[in-house]
Amino acid sequence: MTKRALITGVTGQDGAYLSQLLLARGYEVHGLLRRSASADVIAERLRWLGIQDQVKLLDGNLTDISSLIRVLNECAPDEVYNLGAQSFVKASWNQPLLTGQVTAMGAANLLEAVRLVRPQARFYQASSSEMYGMIQETVQNERTPFYPRSPYAVSKLYAHWLTVNYRESFAMHASSGILFNHESPLRGIEFVTRKVTDGVARIKLGLATELSMGNLDATRDWGHARDYVKGMWLMLQQEVPDDYVLATGRTTSVREFCRLAFAHVGLDYEEYVKVDPAFLRPAEVDVLHGDAAKARQVLGWAPETSLEAMIGEMVEADLARHGARMKG
Ligand code: GDP
Repeated sequence: MTKRALITGVTGQDGAYLSQLLLARGYEVHGLLRRSASADVIAERLRWLGIQDQVKLLDGNLTDISSLIRVLNECAPDEVYNLGAQSFVKASWNQPLLTGQVTAMGAANLLEAVRLVRPQARFYQASSSEMYGMIQETVQNERTPFYPRSPYAVSKLYAHWLTVNYRESFAMHASSGILFNHESPLRGIEFVTRKVTDGVARIKLGLATELSMGNLDATRDWGHARDYVKGMWLMLQQEVPDDYVLATGRTTSVREFCRLAFAHVGLDYEEYVKVDPAFLRPAEVDVLHGDAAKARQVLGWAPETSLEAMIGEMVEADLARHGARMKG
């Protein structure tokens, strides 16, 4: 029997990699499509992976529960992955209510729609290491208390606890993956890693002369999105639903990330990186450092891509993108 999956946020980085993984495992993959941009831009990441024709896109919106009910009836999924969100931390201070509507209430809408229409489906909630915020322990695991530091993180925390609550209240197979930052060539340009690798490519190709950045001293536990979507899938293959941290266990500063990315093309970051206060945040998450021991033990999950290999892949992809544009 072919398994069917429904993914919200299917046009994002994780949605694209997860679609690829599920298709390779023989799933029928459906994606919730929020009609907002031009059709071209919408499928950009799926196209990059060469799977745009294999993912079935269904019109709907996390903020509109009637559309979720219709979509769940249409595709009758065995597994539902809630990856849709207003996911950029800095933007969440400019649009806190929208962030709450999509990231918090959107998850509530989807959990409720699944409970009503498809209660036997397994549910994955994309929770975030941002929920740890002002960290309460030097290394964070599933038992570490949360202290969110942005409207985004507060919204994610609501969605996380509602997932736990629906599991406990209604015996739903609902799991929450607390994923530390995960990146790739498909990462949105507003996130720091992709901003840096894109900047490195533009400087290397003579398209730019400097790169304006915010807080270089923040540190993050950066893994590769391709490795992390495998963890999401593994969570839903367990008999018992639960919450898991996915992380590499290595934390690196934004400054060191810049150094490595510029060094990949033989440049010294100190000559190009400038600090611009416009990129600082009203409240910062200084350090994130995850402990994925539980995922290793229970799921048999482990990250496979080193930070250096990922930076190399991202810089090369951005060099190729800008190179193609210059030729075109
Ligand atoms: P986040 O962990 O979800 O907020 O992921 P980001 O990639 O947006 O940011 C990671 C860290 O990089 C945060 O601590 C930011 O303050 C820091 N940072 C420093 N300069 C920049 C910048 O120019 N853009 C972004 N997005 N983040 C920056």
